[in-house]
Amino acid sequence: MNVSFYTLGCKLNYAETSQLQSIFERDGHTVVAFGQPTDAVIINTCTVTENADKECRQIIRRALRVSPAAFVGVTGCYAQLQPEEIASIEGVDAVFGAKEKFKITDLVRDFRKSDTPHCFVDDVDGALDFVEAQSSETDSRTRAFLKLQDGCDYKCSFCTIPLARGKNRAMDFKLIPEKIRALEVIGYHEVVLSGINLGDYEAATGETFTDVVRQIEEMQPRLRVRISSIEPNLLTREIIEIIAQSSVFCPSFHIPLQSGSPDVLRQMRRRYKAEYYRDLIYTIKGLMPSAGIGADVIVGFPTESDAHFEETFAFLHELPVSYLHVFSYSERENTPAAELSAQTGGVPMQKRAERSKRLRTLSAKKKFEFYKSQCNTEHTVIPEQRSAETGFWTGWTENYVRAEFAGAPSLVQAPMRVRLRETDGETVLSDMLEGALLFDASEVSYIPIMS
Ligand code: SF4
Repeated sequence: MNVSFYTLGCKLNYAETSQLQSIFERDGHTVVAFGQPTDAVIINTCTVTENADKECRQIIRRALRVSPAAFVGVTGCYAQLQPEEIASIEGVDAVFGAKEKFKITDLVRDFRKSDTPHCFVDDVDGALDFVEAQSSETDSRTRAFLKLQDGCDYKCSFCTIPLARGKNRAMDFKLIPEKIRALEVIGYHEVVLSGINLGDYEAATGETFTDVVRQIEEMQPRLRVRISSIEPNLLTREIIEIIAQSSVFCPSFHIPLQSGSPDVLRQMRRRYKAEYYRDLIYTIKGLMPSAGIGADVIVGFPTESDAHFEETFAFLHELPVSYLHVFSYSERENTPAAELSAQTGGVPMQKRAERSKRLRTLSAKKKFEFYKSQCNTEHTVIPEQRSAETGFWTGWTENYVRAEFAGAPSLVQAPMRVRLRETDGETVLSDMLEGALLFDASEVSYIPIMS
């Protein structure tokens, strides 16, 4: 059977779709690109997506336009939380919850269209197994995402992820070095350690995320390692110090703030105070002045007054973060924040949009300033994509600056040294340095050449 996949949402979802593809291939099916004629389509959904329902319908319509007889299965966080809603979408044949996601080929044998969709959705209370997953972000396989942790035991008042993903669970601590070595052998040059609440990693044998970082630093892999989003209260001084001295870990951080107002943070049930977050950023910058730091912020939380928003704006304005990921709050069923919104009426949509716009503008300024501060310095970039139009390659530096530089189509996509020159705020125009390639090409087992 031919099967295609479509993924919505976070990097972890992409990693899990790759895992699903491997399971289907192992069971004798052929994976085809989404949009190609196929016998089955599996859609991996997200609950954070604003219009999950609308998006899901559109994707199903797109798939059935090409393959009207294709079996349509829907899984992921949205499937776990709203199975009936999904089952009612025309064209859906089955819905799979979090526990059933990796058992699709066991649960369905004939993959035929059916008049009555099947719901394979159990609740996620209690202990769940950890299912491994990894993926590449680009077809050129320069960067892999390695899932180390799943689920979340926190109770942030706006978030449905714990309801969709279940309790905190983690990869076996002893397996981590061999997973990283395996990615090295395939030829990846960067691995991003990923999880839903990565910093809350806790192995069955008791090791924490600090132990994970220490273990990876000790093994000195040849690929560089990046930490994906980590909760501020879980980013320990020891982790920061290891990264500051490391030639393996990238000095780049993604640390959700959500609000700079102490009142709003409390109502969001976040586990740190604004001053703590500020100190954390200054600690990182003190040890790694050129570190790239991104922060998530939510605007329009139900109790966020104009004064609270101004507090957040001023807080971020002063803080040396490099860019912001701005989200407009949207009500999620079965969350304390949605109840607050029902009581107070919530923040009007137009106000949410205005606040979001102001923070996005602030983010653009911060990114420009950060990129400018990095001009005339040398960095290591892994070329990821080449524009046929401009002839320029783009890739990320270790401190998360998007660099672009001229290079032949046949360039080896391996780490190379560049000098950053000038920026428009989106990328930094750079020059490849002499002897830029840091790898002996004969040592690279997988050298993708773009044609
Ligand atoms: S830490 Fe908070 S925001 Fe993040 S997944 Fe857990 S509950 Fe959601």
